[in-house]
Amino acid sequence: MNSSELERFRRYLEVHREVALRSLHRLGEVVLTGDLECSQDMADLPATGTQEPSPQPSDERLRLLRLIEAALTRIQEGSYGICAACGREIQARRLDALPWTQYCLRCQQFRERRAEMEDWPADQPVRVRKAG
Ligand SMILES: [Zn+2]
Repeated sequence: MNSSELERFRRYLEVHREVALRSLHRLGEVVLTGDLECSQDMADLPATGTQEPSPQPSDERLRLLRLIEAALTRIQEGSYGICAACGREIQARRLDALPWTQYCLRCQQFRERRAEMEDWPADQPVRVRKAG
């Protein structure tokens, strides 16, 4: 990967880091002001307007933020675009779609399959493939 490509990914990642930080910050504010400003009169009223169903900071957003920061570190270290599992170059098309990924498609699919087998969510039905 040449330096102008790296620079493009670095900018892209920085924009996404900013967005992720802001959305986490906003979620934190909602929780804080909810505790501080909720008067007794208001407490019994149902929530109105655009309140999201799950007000707690999202694990998913935190996870993404960590991935983005790790990717920026890899750019600095010069290991960006190299699969962390097998050491091969990650396809450019894959990096375009998921610039913070640290695995090539093959290793990612392998890890997801393994995660599914080890930690299948209990509330999700297991899809059974019909034979024939
Ligand atoms: Zn790989």
